[in-house]
Amino acid sequence: AKRSGTGVALYDSSRHADSSGHLALVEELRTALTTGQLVLHHQPQLDVATGRPVGVEALVRWAHPTRGLLGPAEFLPLAEVHGLMGALSDEVLAQAVAQAAAWRRGGLPLRMSVNLSASNLLDAALPGRVAGLLARHDVPPESLVLEVTESVLLTDPERSLAVVGALAGLGVTVSIDDFGTGYSSLAYLRDLPVAELKLDRSFTADLLTDPRTEAIVSSTVELAHRLGLHVVAEGVEDEATLRHLERLDCDTSQGFLHSRPVPAAELETWLSARPAAAARP
Ligand code: C2E
Ligand code: MG
Ligand code: MG
Ligand code: MG
Repeated sequence: AKRSGTGVALYDSSRHADSSGHLALVEELRTALTTGQLVLHHQPQLDVATGRPVGVEALVRWAHPTRGLLGPAEFLPLAEVHGLMGALSDEVLAQAVAQAAAWRRGGLPLRMSVNLSASNLLDAALPGRVAGLLARHDVPPESLVLEVTESVLLTDPERSLAVVGALAGLGVTVSIDDFGTGYSSLAYLRDLPVAELKLDRSFTADLLTDPRTEAIVSSTVELAHRLGLHVVAEGVEDEATLRHLERLDCDTSQGFLHSRPVPAAELETWLSARPAAAARP
């Protein structure tokens, strides 16, 4: 729990506002981190043009001993405020890279996307740990995608930029998640060494019904391509939307249409049920 000065301040102020149940959950989360209760679910990402799976996004869940499987919204804010996000992300990264390595050994060279949080980007030692992890598991840096949101960069843009720069310097793909919902999208596209943009789900959802959304998506794909970026649409839930994304030249599709996030074994079953399974270098 040794975090930045900001983290400590947040810890203290929120502590007073907390109910005791809230604090109990924090202690349980501390325990969860060291007892294997945090698990990853994986959601496939498909090449829009070919329909082939090209990667997965790892999404964390907490297999709580009494409350059941908790989603990230139920514990990530707590982890961030109580200085546990560094440890949580280390655990997520370790599991994700190990899984990517196992899939590679099994002939499934899927890209692995992992979400980072605000405090991760203030941690100047993170790029070194990521490099060590990749080397230990013999996973090429290009196979790891690290997703950051625009809001995550706002805490301390200068420090965050340095960390993002170091991660990109390793050869890791940096992706802007929930693109379009932040405040300075264009400045980030210009200034950050990003290689991928993930269109926020709200744009995907309204693509077919709102002409203004359609104009934004169409122009964003074009802009991204002119900048040499790869575009992922999140939250794709129906065929008609997927077909329209294809017309707009969007590269990759992710959403419930293909699969919900599922445990690794279930993803393997899903993959093997597909004719043109992941044989894409
Ligand atoms: P995100 O990175 O934007 O992840 C996509 C979220 O949208 C996931 O929710 C996923 O289940 C959901 N989703 C995917 N396809 C669809 C769809 O077609 N329709 C709808 N309605 N939803 C869809 P989830 O797993 O609850 O994660 C929520 C957020 O929590 C993530 O948003 C991400 O910001 C954060 N998160 C998840 N795992 C991690 C993690 O390991 N570390 C960090 N720092 N953040 C994480
Ligand atoms: Mg994400
Ligand atoms: Mg997202
Ligand atoms: Mg989102």
